[in-house]
Amino acid sequence: MKKTFQILAILALGVCFAFSLPNKEGPKRVINVVIDAGHGGKDHGATYNEFTEKQITDAITSKIKALNNDKEVALYFTREGDEFTDINKRVTTVNTIKPDLMLSLHVNYNKLDEASGMEFFINKNGVNGEQSDMYAARLSDKFKDKGFKIRGVKTAPFWTLTKSEVPAVHIELGFLSNEIDRGYLTSDASQNEIAGIVTEFLNEIK
Ligand SMILES: [Zn+2]
Repeated sequence: MKKTFQILAILALGVCFAFSLPNKEGPKRVINVVIDAGHGGKDHGATYNEFTEKQITDAITSKIKALNNDKEVALYFTREGDEFTDINKRVTTVNTIKPDLMLSLHVNYNKLDEASGMEFFINKNGVNGEQSDMYAARLSDKFKDKGFKIRGVKTAPFWTLTKSEVPAVHIELGFLSNEIDRGYLTSDASQNEIAGIVTEFLNEIK
């Protein structure tokens, strides 16, 4: 009798584990994503007249938050609104949550105002390099399909990329110094389109 009970207990434990193991292949699973809106508070990032990088990244992040109605995509943020957030605090947030992906949003600036387009950065040499590369390629392809100019996926030793212990992609959404890019970066409709593309991508990778 005791033996039977032991066997049943072992079987029950096995069933529990079977259900608690994350099913990475199946279509139905919750994906956790940290959206890191670059800069904030006293750190304005790139600026052009009244436009600031911190405001653009915050606006797009808020739009992603509002558009995401997929219950299987859980979003987390490294800052709420216009607050200054130290780069180490951002990394700590990421490594505490341990999401499936960290997306860092930024806006570029160049003295040469003809420089334009989106750039995707990853840490290719990190333990999550391959997966970061896969996510960056998929997301950049989605933007390309919608007509955005893509400068490519590059590797960079950015602190948030090298210190995050999860797949991480840093996106430079466009150049605030370029007239065409500035047009879409600062337009409410285009910010909605960018947020929509990111939201759709997150829905697809879950
Ligand atoms: Zn930036």
